[in-house]
Amino acid sequence: MPNIPIAGPWITQKEIDYVSEAVANGWYSRANEYPNQFETKMAAYIGRKYAISLPSCTSAIHLALLGLGIGPGDEVIVPEITWIASAAPLKYVGAKPIFADIDEKTWCISVDSIKKVMTDRVKAIIPVDLYGNMPAMDDLLALAAEHKIAIIEDAAQAVGSKFAGKNAGSFGDASVFSFKHNKTLTTGEGGILLTDRKDMYDRCCFLRDHGRATTGNKLFWNEEVAFNYRMSSIGAALGLAQLERVGELIQRRRDIFTWYHEKLADIPQLTLNYEAPNVFNTYWMATVILSPELGMTKEELIPRLQTKGVNCRPFFYPLSQLPAYAEFGSKELENPIAYKLSPYGVNLPSPLNLTREDAHFVCDNLIDVLGVK
Ligand SMILES: *Cc1c(COP(=O)(O)O)cnc(C)c1O
Repeated sequence: MPNIPIAGPWITQKEIDYVSEAVANGWYSRANEYPNQFETKMAAYIGRKYAISLPSCTSAIHLALLGLGIGPGDEVIVPEITWIASAAPLKYVGAKPIFADIDEKTWCISVDSIKKVMTDRVKAIIPVDLYGNMPAMDDLLALAAEHKIAIIEDAAQAVGSKFAGKNAGSFGDASVFSFKHNKTLTTGEGGILLTDRKDMYDRCCFLRDHGRATTGNKLFWNEEVAFNYRMSSIGAALGLAQLERVGELIQRRRDIFTWYHEKLADIPQLTLNYEAPNVFNTYWMATVILSPELGMTKEELIPRLQTKGVNCRPFFYPLSQLPAYAEFGSKELENPIAYKLSPYGVNLPSPLNLTREDAHFVCDNLIDVLGVK
Protein backbone atom coordinates (compact mmCIF):
# COMPACT_ATOMS: atom_id res chain seq x y z
CA MET A 1 0.00 0.00 0.00
CA PRO A 2 1.30 3.49 -0.75
CA ASN A 3 2.06 5.78 2.17
CA ILE A 4 1.91 9.36 1.02
CA PRO A 5 3.40 11.76 3.57
CA ILE A 6 1.86 15.10 4.46
CA ALA A 7 5.04 17.18 4.08
CA GLY A 8 8.78 16.98 3.57
CA PRO A 9 11.75 18.65 1.88
CA TRP A 10 13.45 18.21 -1.51
CA ILE A 11 17.12 17.45 -0.95
CA THR A 12 19.63 17.04 -3.80
CA GLN A 13 23.37 16.42 -4.06
CA LYS A 14 23.93 20.19 -3.77
CA GLU A 15 22.56 20.23 -0.22
CA ILE A 16 24.66 17.17 0.70
CA ASP A 17 27.78 18.83 -0.73
CA TYR A 18 27.23 22.15 1.04
CA VAL A 19 26.50 20.52 4.39
CA SER A 20 29.54 18.22 4.02
CA GLU A 21 31.73 21.22 3.28
CA ALA A 22 30.31 23.11 6.29
CA VAL A 23 30.76 20.24 8.69
CA ALA A 24 34.32 19.68 7.46
CA ASN A 25 35.45 23.30 7.26
CA GLY A 26 32.91 25.66 8.86
CA TRP A 27 34.95 26.13 12.03
CA TYR A 28 37.82 28.28 13.36
CA SER A 29 38.18 31.41 11.24
CA ARG A 30 35.32 30.29 9.02
CA ALA A 31 32.85 29.69 11.87
CA ASN A 32 30.53 32.56 10.88
CA GLU A 33 30.90 32.23 7.15
CA TYR A 34 27.78 30.18 6.39
CA PRO A 35 25.34 32.04 8.67
CA ASN A 36 26.64 35.39 7.36
CA GLN A 37 26.32 34.32 3.73
CA PHE A 38 22.88 32.89 4.30
CA GLU A 39 21.74 36.16 5.92
CA THR A 40 23.13 38.31 3.10
CA LYS A 41 21.59 36.16 0.39
CA MET A 42 18.18 35.83 2.07
CA ALA A 43 18.00 39.60 2.61
CA ALA A 44 18.89 40.18 -1.06
CA TYR A 45 16.44 37.55 -2.31
CA ILE A 46 13.50 38.92 -0.29
CA GLY A 47 14.48 42.57 -0.75
CA ARG A 48 15.22 43.60 2.82
CA LYS A 49 18.17 45.51 4.26
CA TYR A 50 18.96 43.24 7.21
CA ALA A 51 18.61 39.56 8.12
CA ILE A 52 19.29 37.68 11.36
CA SER A 53 19.51 33.88 11.15
CA LEU A 54 18.00 32.07 14.12
CA PRO A 55 17.26 28.57 15.42
CA SER A 56 13.54 28.85 14.60
CA CYS A 57 10.80 31.15 13.37
CA THR A 58 9.35 31.11 16.88
CA SER A 59 12.56 32.73 18.16
CA ALA A 60 12.36 35.24 15.29
CA ILE A 61 8.89 36.37 16.41
CA HIS A 62 10.13 36.50 20.01
CA LEU A 63 13.04 38.79 19.04
CA ALA A 64 10.84 40.92 16.78
CA LEU A 65 8.46 41.58 19.69
CA LEU A 66 11.37 42.48 21.97
CA GLY A 67 12.92 44.62 19.23
CA LEU A 68 9.66 46.58 19.07
CA GLY A 69 9.63 46.97 22.85
CA ILE A 70 6.42 44.97 23.27
CA GLY A 71 5.84 43.67 26.79
CA PRO A 72 3.41 43.36 29.72
CA GLY A 73 0.19 45.35 29.27
CA ASP A 74 0.54 45.46 25.49
CA GLU A 75 -1.86 43.75 23.09
CA VAL A 76 -1.03 42.24 19.70
CA ILE A 77 -3.56 41.16 17.07
CA VAL A 78 -3.10 37.71 15.54
CA PRO A 79 -5.34 35.72 13.18
CA GLU A 80 -7.48 32.94 14.65
CA ILE A 81 -6.23 30.50 12.05
CA THR A 82 -2.50 29.90 12.18
CA TRP A 83 0.08 27.64 13.77
CA ILE A 84 0.34 28.52 17.47
CA ALA A 85 3.95 29.65 16.95
CA SER A 86 2.61 32.91 15.47
CA ALA A 87 1.12 33.79 18.85
CA ALA A 88 3.09 31.82 21.47
CA PRO A 89 5.94 34.37 21.76
CA LEU A 90 3.41 36.94 23.03
CA LYS A 91 3.30 34.89 26.21
CA TYR A 92 7.11 34.90 26.44
CA VAL A 93 7.11 38.72 26.58
CA GLY A 94 3.98 39.04 28.73
CA ALA A 95 1.79 40.57 26.01
CA LYS A 96 -1.83 39.63 25.32
CA PRO A 97 -3.01 38.07 22.06
CA ILE A 98 -6.15 39.51 20.48
CA PHE A 99 -7.69 37.10 18.00
CA ALA A 100 -9.06 38.45 14.71
CA ASP A 101 -11.16 36.57 12.19
CA ILE A 102 -9.98 35.39 8.79
CA ASP A 103 -11.17 36.31 5.32
CA GLU A 104 -13.49 33.69 3.86
CA LYS A 105 -11.60 33.46 0.57
CA THR A 106 -7.91 33.97 1.39
CA TRP A 107 -8.13 32.33 4.87
CA CYS A 108 -5.71 35.07 6.02
CA ILE A 109 -6.44 37.75 8.62
CA SER A 110 -9.44 39.99 7.85
CA VAL A 111 -8.81 43.73 7.98
CA ASP A 112 -12.48 44.39 8.87
CA SER A 113 -12.19 42.05 11.81
CA ILE A 114 -9.01 43.80 13.00
CA LYS A 115 -10.88 47.11 13.02
CA LYS A 116 -13.47 45.59 15.36
CA VAL A 117 -10.93 44.39 17.96
CA MET A 118 -8.56 47.39 17.83
CA THR A 119 -7.86 49.08 21.19
CA ASP A 120 -5.35 51.71 22.25
CA ARG A 121 -3.33 48.99 23.97
CA VAL A 122 -2.66 47.27 20.64
CA LYS A 123 1.00 47.74 19.68
CA ALA A 124 1.28 45.43 16.68
CA ILE A 125 -0.44 43.09 14.24
CA ILE A 126 1.06 39.75 13.20
CA PRO A 127 -0.53 38.89 9.84
CA VAL A 128 0.21 35.36 8.63
CA ASP A 129 0.72 34.37 4.99
CA LEU A 130 -1.38 31.27 5.55
CA TYR A 131 -0.64 28.20 3.43
CA GLY A 132 1.36 30.45 1.09
CA ASN A 133 -1.48 32.90 0.48
CA MET A 134 -1.30 36.61 1.31
CA PRO A 135 -3.65 38.85 3.33
CA ALA A 136 -4.69 42.29 1.98
CA MET A 137 -1.28 43.79 2.73
CA ASP A 138 -2.07 47.24 1.33
CA ASP A 139 -5.08 47.66 3.64
CA LEU A 140 -3.15 46.19 6.58
CA LEU A 141 -0.23 48.58 6.15
CA ALA A 142 -2.62 51.54 5.84
CA LEU A 143 -4.47 50.51 9.00
CA ALA A 144 -1.24 50.03 10.94
CA ALA A 145 0.02 53.45 9.81
CA GLU A 146 -3.26 55.07 10.82
CA HIS A 147 -3.02 53.59 14.33
CA LYS A 148 0.78 54.02 14.51
CA ILE A 149 1.32 50.36 15.32
CA ALA A 150 3.83 47.85 14.01
CA ILE A 151 3.44 44.92 11.63
CA ILE A 152 5.38 41.67 12.02
CA GLU A 153 4.73 39.64 8.89
CA ASP A 154 4.72 35.90 9.65
CA ALA A 155 5.82 34.58 6.26
CA ALA A 156 6.82 31.15 7.64
CA GLN A 157 4.68 29.33 5.08
CA ALA A 158 5.17 31.64 2.13
CA VAL A 159 8.70 31.80 0.78
CA GLY A 160 8.32 32.97 -2.86
CA SER A 161 4.77 34.29 -2.53
CA LYS A 162 4.00 37.83 -3.64
CA PHE A 163 1.42 40.53 -3.00
CA ALA A 164 1.14 43.15 -5.77
CA GLY A 165 4.52 42.01 -7.06
CA LYS A 166 6.24 42.44 -3.68
CA ASN A 167 7.78 39.45 -1.92
CA ALA A 168 6.28 37.77 1.12
CA GLY A 169 8.67 38.64 3.93
CA SER A 170 9.20 42.22 2.79
CA PHE A 171 6.21 43.81 4.56
CA GLY A 172 6.03 45.68 7.85
CA ASP A 173 8.59 46.57 10.51
CA ALA A 174 9.89 43.01 10.59
CA SER A 175 9.12 39.74 8.88
CA VAL A 176 9.97 36.15 9.71
CA PHE A 177 10.43 32.83 7.95
CA SER A 178 10.64 29.27 9.24
CA PHE A 179 13.07 26.74 7.79
CA LYS A 180 11.68 23.73 9.61
CA HIS A 181 11.84 20.49 7.59
CA ASN A 182 8.19 20.79 6.54
CA LYS A 183 8.51 24.31 5.11
CA THR A 184 9.30 25.06 1.45
CA LEU A 185 12.96 25.90 2.15
CA THR A 186 14.66 24.08 5.02
CA THR A 187 17.73 24.36 7.22
CA GLY A 188 16.64 21.32 9.27
CA GLU A 189 15.30 23.57 12.02
CA GLY A 190 15.74 27.30 11.66
CA GLY A 191 14.30 30.71 11.08
CA ILE A 192 15.18 34.24 10.08
CA LEU A 193 14.15 37.76 11.01
CA LEU A 194 14.21 40.39 8.27
CA THR A 195 13.88 44.14 8.67
CA ASP A 196 14.77 47.42 7.00
CA ARG A 197 15.12 49.16 10.39
CA LYS A 198 18.69 49.53 11.63
CA ASP A 199 17.48 50.01 15.25
CA MET A 200 15.54 46.71 15.13
CA TYR A 201 18.49 44.93 13.55
CA ASP A 202 20.98 46.15 16.16
CA ARG A 203 18.70 45.40 19.08
CA CYS A 204 17.78 41.90 17.84
CA CYS A 205 21.43 40.98 17.11
CA PHE A 206 22.31 42.06 20.64
CA LEU A 207 19.49 39.96 22.12
CA ARG A 208 20.38 36.96 19.96
CA ASP A 209 23.81 36.67 21.51
CA HIS A 210 23.34 36.91 25.28
CA GLY A 211 23.35 40.69 25.34
CA ARG A 212 27.09 41.02 24.87
CA ALA A 213 28.54 44.50 24.76
CA THR A 214 28.65 45.68 21.15
CA THR A 215 31.18 48.47 21.71
CA GLY A 216 34.67 48.20 23.18
CA ASN A 217 36.61 44.95 23.14
CA LYS A 218 35.89 43.62 26.60
CA LEU A 219 35.01 39.95 26.24
CA PHE A 220 32.24 38.28 28.28
CA TRP A 221 30.85 41.68 29.28
CA ASN A 222 27.08 41.19 29.09
CA GLU A 223 24.95 44.30 29.36
CA GLU A 224 21.60 42.49 29.65
CA VAL A 225 20.30 39.00 30.25
CA ALA A 226 19.22 37.82 26.79
CA PHE A 227 19.14 34.69 24.60
CA ASN A 228 21.24 32.16 22.76
CA TYR A 229 19.49 32.21 19.40
CA ARG A 230 22.12 31.34 16.79
CA MET A 231 21.75 29.23 13.68
CA SER A 232 24.45 26.60 13.18
CA SER A 233 26.86 26.71 10.22
CA ILE A 234 25.58 23.34 9.12
CA GLY A 235 21.98 24.54 9.04
CA ALA A 236 22.99 27.73 7.22
CA ALA A 237 24.91 25.71 4.60
CA LEU A 238 21.80 23.60 3.98
CA GLY A 239 19.78 26.82 3.70
CA LEU A 240 22.24 28.30 1.19
CA ALA A 241 21.94 25.26 -1.06
CA GLN A 242 18.15 25.38 -0.82
CA LEU A 243 18.12 29.12 -1.54
CA GLU A 244 20.09 28.52 -4.75
CA ARG A 245 17.27 26.14 -5.76
CA VAL A 246 14.40 28.22 -4.45
CA GLY A 247 12.86 28.78 -7.89
CA GLU A 248 12.62 25.04 -8.40
CA LEU A 249 11.16 24.51 -4.91
CA ILE A 250 8.47 27.12 -5.52
CA GLN A 251 7.65 25.72 -8.95
CA ARG A 252 7.17 22.27 -7.40
CA ARG A 253 4.71 23.75 -4.90
CA ARG A 254 2.79 25.36 -7.76
CA ASP A 255 2.85 22.06 -9.70
CA ILE A 256 1.53 20.09 -6.73
CA PHE A 257 -1.38 22.49 -6.44
CA THR A 258 -2.05 22.23 -10.19
CA TRP A 259 -2.19 18.42 -9.96
CA TYR A 260 -4.84 18.64 -7.25
CA HIS A 261 -6.68 21.40 -9.10
CA GLU A 262 -6.91 19.22 -12.25
CA LYS A 263 -8.99 16.64 -10.39
CA LEU A 264 -10.80 18.63 -7.71
CA ALA A 265 -11.57 22.11 -9.03
CA ASP A 266 -14.81 21.06 -10.74
CA ILE A 267 -16.32 19.39 -7.69
CA PRO A 268 -18.83 21.93 -6.33
CA GLN A 269 -18.71 20.57 -2.75
CA LEU A 270 -14.97 21.33 -2.46
CA THR A 271 -13.20 24.69 -2.15
CA LEU A 272 -9.47 24.84 -2.88
CA ASN A 273 -6.87 27.48 -1.94
CA TYR A 274 -7.65 30.86 -3.50
CA GLU A 275 -5.27 33.01 -5.51
CA ALA A 276 -6.35 36.64 -5.90
CA PRO A 277 -5.38 38.40 -9.16
CA ASN A 278 -2.72 40.52 -7.38
CA VAL A 279 -1.26 37.56 -5.45
CA PHE A 280 1.27 34.88 -6.33
CA ASN A 281 0.39 31.99 -4.02
CA THR A 282 3.06 29.34 -3.36
CA TYR A 283 0.54 26.89 -1.87
CA TRP A 284 2.59 25.62 1.07
CA MET A 285 -0.26 23.17 1.75
CA ALA A 286 -2.81 22.29 -0.90
CA THR A 287 -6.03 22.46 1.09
CA VAL A 288 -9.71 21.67 0.60
CA ILE A 289 -12.70 22.94 2.54
CA LEU A 290 -15.52 20.41 2.46
CA SER A 291 -19.05 21.62 2.03
CA PRO A 292 -20.96 20.89 5.27
CA GLU A 293 -23.71 19.28 3.16
CA LEU A 294 -21.34 16.32 2.59
CA GLY A 295 -21.92 15.52 6.25
CA MET A 296 -18.28 14.85 7.03
CA THR A 297 -15.86 16.86 9.15
CA LYS A 298 -12.07 16.97 8.88
CA GLU A 299 -11.83 14.79 11.98
CA GLU A 300 -13.97 12.11 10.31
CA LEU A 301 -12.30 12.32 6.91
CA ILE A 302 -8.64 12.24 7.95
CA PRO A 303 -8.61 8.76 9.59
CA ARG A 304 -10.55 7.31 6.66
CA LEU A 305 -7.95 8.57 4.21
CA GLN A 306 -5.19 7.32 6.46
CA THR A 307 -6.44 3.74 6.02
CA LYS A 308 -5.81 4.23 2.27
CA GLY A 309 -2.23 5.40 2.85
CA VAL A 310 -3.08 9.08 2.40
CA ASN A 311 -1.80 11.30 5.23
CA CYS A 312 -3.75 14.53 5.57
CA ARG A 313 -3.80 17.15 8.31
CA PRO A 314 -6.56 19.24 9.81
CA PHE A 315 -6.92 22.91 8.90
CA PHE A 316 -5.75 24.77 12.01
CA TYR A 317 -8.22 25.05 14.89
CA PRO A 318 -9.11 28.61 15.87
CA LEU A 319 -6.54 29.67 18.48
CA SER A 320 -9.33 30.83 20.80
CA GLN A 321 -10.72 27.28 20.72
CA LEU A 322 -7.49 25.71 21.98
CA PRO A 323 -7.00 24.63 25.60
CA ALA A 324 -3.75 26.65 25.50
CA TYR A 325 -5.80 29.86 25.22
CA ALA A 326 -8.75 28.85 27.42
CA GLU A 327 -8.12 31.86 29.68
CA PHE A 328 -9.39 34.19 26.92
CA GLY A 329 -12.56 32.20 26.21
CA SER A 330 -14.02 31.18 22.86
CA LYS A 331 -14.37 33.90 20.23
CA GLU A 332 -16.81 31.91 18.12
CA LEU A 333 -19.33 34.76 17.99
CA GLU A 334 -16.74 37.44 17.19
CA ASN A 335 -14.84 35.35 14.62
CA PRO A 336 -17.49 33.26 12.83
CA ILE A 337 -15.55 32.57 9.61
CA ALA A 338 -12.68 30.84 11.40
CA TYR A 339 -15.12 28.70 13.38
CA LYS A 340 -17.20 27.94 10.30
CA LEU A 341 -14.34 26.83 8.02
CA SER A 342 -12.03 25.09 10.46
CA PRO A 343 -14.10 21.92 11.09
CA TYR A 344 -14.25 21.26 7.34
CA GLY A 345 -10.70 22.09 6.24
CA VAL A 346 -8.18 19.41 5.30
CA ASN A 347 -4.57 19.86 4.18
CA LEU A 348 -3.75 17.42 1.40
CA PRO A 349 -0.33 15.73 1.17
CA SER A 350 2.09 18.39 -0.05
CA PRO A 351 5.61 16.98 0.36
CA LEU A 352 8.08 18.30 -2.21
CA ASN A 353 8.75 14.74 -3.44
CA LEU A 354 5.08 14.23 -4.43
CA THR A 355 4.42 13.11 -8.01
CA ARG A 356 1.44 13.82 -10.24
CA GLU A 357 0.45 10.14 -9.88
CA ASP A 358 0.56 10.48 -6.08
CA ALA A 359 -1.62 13.58 -6.19
CA HIS A 360 -4.16 11.87 -8.42
CA PHE A 361 -4.15 8.82 -6.14
CA VAL A 362 -4.97 11.16 -3.24
CA CYS A 363 -7.78 12.77 -5.27
CA ASP A 364 -9.27 9.43 -6.31
CA ASN A 365 -9.38 8.31 -2.70
CA LEU A 366 -10.78 11.63 -1.50
CA ILE A 367 -13.53 11.50 -4.14
CA ASP A 368 -14.27 7.90 -3.22
CA VAL A 369 -14.50 8.49 0.54
CA LEU A 370 -16.65 11.60 0.09
CA GLY A 371 -18.83 9.92 -2.56
CA VAL A 372 -18.79 13.05 -4.70
CA LYS A 373 -18.70 11.30 -8.08
C1 LIG B 1 6.11 26.82 11.05
C2 LIG B 1 5.51 28.10 11.47
C3 LIG B 1 6.04 28.88 12.50
C4 LIG B 1 7.12 28.41 13.42
O1 LIG B 1 8.27 28.02 12.83
P1 LIG B 1 9.39 27.27 13.69
O2 LIG B 1 10.60 27.42 12.82
O3 LIG B 1 8.95 25.87 13.85
O4 LIG B 1 9.54 27.99 14.98
C5 LIG B 1 5.48 30.11 12.75
N1 LIG B 1 4.41 30.56 12.07
C6 LIG B 1 3.86 29.83 11.10
C7 LIG B 1 2.70 30.40 10.35
C8 LIG B 1 4.36 28.56 10.78
O5 LIG B 1 3.78 27.83 9.83
